[in-house]
Amino acid sequence: MTTSDLPVIGFIGLGNMGSGMTRNILRAGFPLIVTDARPEAADELVARGATWAEDPRMVAANSDIVITMLPTPKIVDAVARGEHGILAGIRDGGTWIDMSTSVPEVLATIRAEFFDRGLVLIDAPVSGMSVGAANGTLQIFVGAEAAEFARVRPVLEAMGDPERIFLVGGAGAGYAVKLLINQLWFSHLVATSEVLAIGASAGVDLGVLRSALIASPARSNFLEQDVLSILNQGDYDEGFAITLACKDLGLSIDLARSVGVPVELSSLVEQVYRRALAQYGPTAGEMTPFKLYEDLMRRELRLPQLGEPVGAAGPGTVHETVTLTEGQMPHVAG
Ligand code: NAD
Repeated sequence: MTTSDLPVIGFIGLGNMGSGMTRNILRAGFPLIVTDARPEAADELVARGATWAEDPRMVAANSDIVITMLPTPKIVDAVARGEHGILAGIRDGGTWIDMSTSVPEVLATIRAEFFDRGLVLIDAPVSGMSVGAANGTLQIFVGAEAAEFARVRPVLEAMGDPERIFLVGGAGAGYAVKLLINQLWFSHLVATSEVLAIGASAGVDLGVLRSALIASPARSNFLEQDVLSILNQGDYDEGFAITLACKDLGLSIDLARSVGVPVELSSLVEQVYRRALAQYGPTAGEMTPFKLYEDLMRRELRLPQLGEPVGAAGPGTVHETVTLTEGQMPHVAG
């Protein structure tokens, strides 16, 4: 099937994440066969040497390892089971890695149902946003047996930071870890939005407030790094649509329910996210819940940029006469 020693990789789902991941698989030298519901999503990859397949069945039939990077568990299931789906093409004993943010049930049910086919089904969802997918620096959380993990690790290393590719447990553990990371990050976002909105409304300088929080026990990676895309550029990360963020929050709460853990806070965070979805539409960025608070205040929260008189940049700044220098810039980790 392949002229090189590397396995042929089949990839389904060439969206914000999959487009970068596939470019890096190609770059690493793996033969690549792809498909997507939007054929135009493959144009650039095909120009770079990938092969287009009409449907997931053809991808699976012509590859050694199938990878999916799809929006929801329902779509993953449909892409597997459809008449032209993965299960119709994959050979007995074949390997399928689902890198979507999903729930354990989909692969678990297929594993049980098709037990006699000896399929190797691995969950390996990721963190790192579309920029990490493009740069090949994703963090990857793998649920698999150790031997299976070792076998597929080279292709994972083509997409992720080798230092941050973790075997986190057996089947399903990767999905669980990923959902919990997102749950906590979304909670950080909502909590930080509230705190900055209160502080700025109370007349505290936004940069001073943020620096004080970072220097305190309330510090977080979100305050130090992630919120800066909003405070500096007004960027709410459209690379990850809020509709997918709401999907993840729903899945995380489902997971909590399935293991009998009441999660009042997670449910509240989910509702704030759903309000932002209703307000700004499904393709708005994952950080638009922050904007809900800005809209309530009728002002944007922005830090003054280097060399700019404080107070001139945006309504989030209050003091008037200082000019920021390098030493006063917000602390950015890394
Ligand atoms: P996306 O919506 O940008 O891309 C999904 C792709 O799947 C699209 O190209 C779409 O055409 C394709 N697709 C949908 N249904 C299909 C079908 N039936 N058959 C074939 N192709 C189909 O989504 P994304 O942002 O790339 O996210 C993909 C997964 O990764 C999601 O589970 C998401 O939660 C997760 N994720 C996203 C990010 C991010 O920052 N975007 C980060 C980490 C994890």
